[in-house]
Amino acid sequence: MARYRGAVCRLCRRERIKLNLKGERCLTDKCALERRAYPPGQHGQGRGKASEYGRQLREKQKVRRIYGIQEKQFRAYFKEADRLKGVTGENLLLLLERRLDNMIYRMGYAASRSEARQLVRHGHFTVNGRRVDIPSYSTRQGDIIAVREKSKKVPAIVGAYEAASAKGIPGWLEVDAKAFSGTIKEMPKREDITMPIEEHLIVELYSK
Ligand code: SF4
Repeated sequence: MARYRGAVCRLCRRERIKLNLKGERCLTDKCALERRAYPPGQHGQGRGKASEYGRQLREKQKVRRIYGIQEKQFRAYFKEADRLKGVTGENLLLLLERRLDNMIYRMGYAASRSEARQLVRHGHFTVNGRRVDIPSYSTRQGDIIAVREKSKKVPAIVGAYEAASAKGIPGWLEVDAKAFSGTIKEMPKREDITMPIEEHLIVELYSK
């Protein structure tokens, strides 16, 4: 399936939750969900109660959209989560959190995950001293993620970091603002993911 290229605010309205896809704008009253808190389209305001399948599908779509993952890749993450020890739904979320683009967003070097993905593709970051331009790169505890020397003046990175540091960086990360680098002190736990997600619905959907 091709990557979605339409208006991203429609996705938030469809899922009825702020997916924070537009960085700073999401925190202002220009947020489309603040103005029109109902699904887009002609029948947006008239939808009835969702079926069990509908709820499962929406939950899966919501998580896919939060992390910006294509269906095929999302299934691959689910397969991997199912293979690992522990609770499959939690494993799935924690695998998604390990992605390099997510870590860069969490460290505050990008205003949104989609921006982080683009910055990674353009080769602005290193992991443990080596340039990595693969947004899905799976990070590990102890990894040091840094902005490359030549990228330290990129306005998107500098601006995003200033805004993020004002809001606060998660406690499981350690960011050295002067060095433009961050260390993954420990991998996030389920309780560190604060978006309202019912991952068991995704497990139910894929287990049919
Ligand atoms: Fe979603 Fe952000 Fe658009 Fe609001 S501004 S609807 S949170 S993408």
